[in-house]
Amino acid sequence: MTTCYINGKYKPLSQSTVSITDRGYQFSDGVYEVIAVFKNEFVDFKLHLNRLFVSLKKMDIKINLNENQIESITKKIKKINQLEMGIVYIQITRGDQNPREHKYSNNLKPNIVIYSIFKNFEYLNKLAQKGVKTSLYPDVRWQRSDIKSISLLGNVLAANHAKKNKSHEAVLFDKRNMITEGNSSSIWIIKKNKCITHPLNFRILKGCTRHKLISILKKNKFKFEEKKFSIKSLLNADEAFMTSATNFIMPIIKVDKHTISNGKPGLNTLKFRSLFINAI
Ligand code: PLP
Repeated sequence: MTTCYINGKYKPLSQSTVSITDRGYQFSDGVYEVIAVFKNEFVDFKLHLNRLFVSLKKMDIKINLNENQIESITKKIKKINQLEMGIVYIQITRGDQNPREHKYSNNLKPNIVIYSIFKNFEYLNKLAQKGVKTSLYPDVRWQRSDIKSISLLGNVLAANHAKKNKSHEAVLFDKRNMITEGNSSSIWIIKKNKCITHPLNFRILKGCTRHKLISILKKNKFKFEEKKFSIKSLLNADEAFMTSATNFIMPIIKVDKHTISNGKPGLNTLKFRSLFINAI
């Protein structure tokens, strides 16, 4: 039985409920974070906590807990649920508002929920040795993908398109056929020994794994550029990979029917993966 933190109380997940007038339920008016736990340790804890508070600020949601308090609740949930591998999920919505109205009241009490989910990262480790197939999908999301909001319909449509095509992830492209990111990951290519990923702006999420990898690349003096790249560049890349809190660094070997390079995980990609795992 999973224990959930909900608005100051620790309860069984099945008994942790919010009202149907919650603005998260009615308007997707909320934010979330996913923090991985690997080998009994949190991965990039501070980066995720910082991003949570950045998202709250961008959405103008004010909570009466600070980063330290969210950190200790998150640690407590991990401990109560004896989570050694998986994720801790944090969701904060603006709160209940009745009667329903688009314009939010300023005195709402945000609904804060934190619980954990077991996930088998060993399986992803095995998958990384083979690499994954991805599918292209138009980026139909709203125009503030930099906010980690719970408004994920575009990501859901993309992910299920990938699922139908037996792909691990959907790779999103904009109206100019430039790659933005994955349905829940950052997308990278390597061309002529240079790593390339989309620059930070409103179109993509500032991935914590992306951020961590950039510091690893700098440390190892591997060339790297934040630059838009096209679908064509992806298909013609020497290596391609995705990064996320749960996948770490996952080689991409196929984009729909097209094989990337020789169809095997790139050597640099695998090297970055092991450097990343060593760093956590
Ligand atoms: N982009 C999107 C849309 C995501 O949902 C995620 C993670 O869920 C990422 C990128 C990768 O971010 P992170 O490395 O912080 O998990």
